[in-house]
Amino acid sequence: MAKRKPIPKEVQDELLFQSGRRCCLCYGLKHDLSVKPYGQIAHLNRNPDDNTLDNLVYLCVDHYSQVDGREGQSPVYTLGEIKRYRRGLYAEIEAVRRRGAWPTGVEVPYLSIVHPLEPVPGLAGRGIQLVDADQQLYLSLYFRTSLYHGMGLPQNAGKWLYIEAHMRPALMLRVPVRAWNDHEADGLVHFLRAGGAGQDLHGERLNNDDLSTGDYLYLWQEDGEFRLILSVFAPSQAGIALQARLTAEAAGALADYLEEVGFVEHAQPIG
Ligand SMILES: [Zn+2]
Repeated sequence: MAKRKPIPKEVQDELLFQSGRRCCLCYGLKHDLSVKPYGQIAHLNRNPDDNTLDNLVYLCVDHYSQVDGREGQSPVYTLGEIKRYRRGLYAEIEAVRRRGAWPTGVEVPYLSIVHPLEPVPGLAGRGIQLVDADQQLYLSLYFRTSLYHGMGLPQNAGKWLYIEAHMRPALMLRVPVRAWNDHEADGLVHFLRAGGAGQDLHGERLNNDDLSTGDYLYLWQEDGEFRLILSVFAPSQAGIALQARLTAEAAGALADYLEEVGFVEHAQPIG
């Protein structure tokens, strides 16, 4: 029998992160959201060489044996059923992460003022700045095609958003996050225009830490507001997170900026 192709590390990382090591069948059937640290990754179509994210699912040991059992054994759960539970689980995990990071009893700045930012020669193209009415928080965003600052460094290595947050009295946070594919880039712009479930962009994840989120930008809609969390995590697990809200106009201006600078090459029509 041919040897199984190993699941690429990036795919494994993404799957473990999205599932938060929860089992989607435990979640879907029993609303059990507990972490299953010793689960396994199953191939839904039973082709062990198909290591696409859509074909993989993280399951507890019991459910793994029912889904990825020996050939010839008839499947207990339908593919569509498992995928629905998986979709529900991923959405729930995201919601839990966001709720856990949203502050209670704190006035969160509402970004409503939009400024264009001139290019910084040798460092950055033009950007966009979002500011709250009290001018407590300045969020500057620059589109880049490289993780690195400066001239002569490799470009076109992705679609990065460099975000600088300046807070009063004096604190600066700088977070690079990336759209890992065109789907994410389109999703972000679509969300900024039309709202909906939300969209996340992540930076590089820490090595050897499947449970860490890495740096991230979460954007979602709740109570009719656009909410945003920007967060950095150090290898020590110390971190800093910033929360803000956006007016629909500010969100629309950000979408315009992202389209104009080429963050989305083929903007999807809304509707
Ligand atoms: Zn399970």
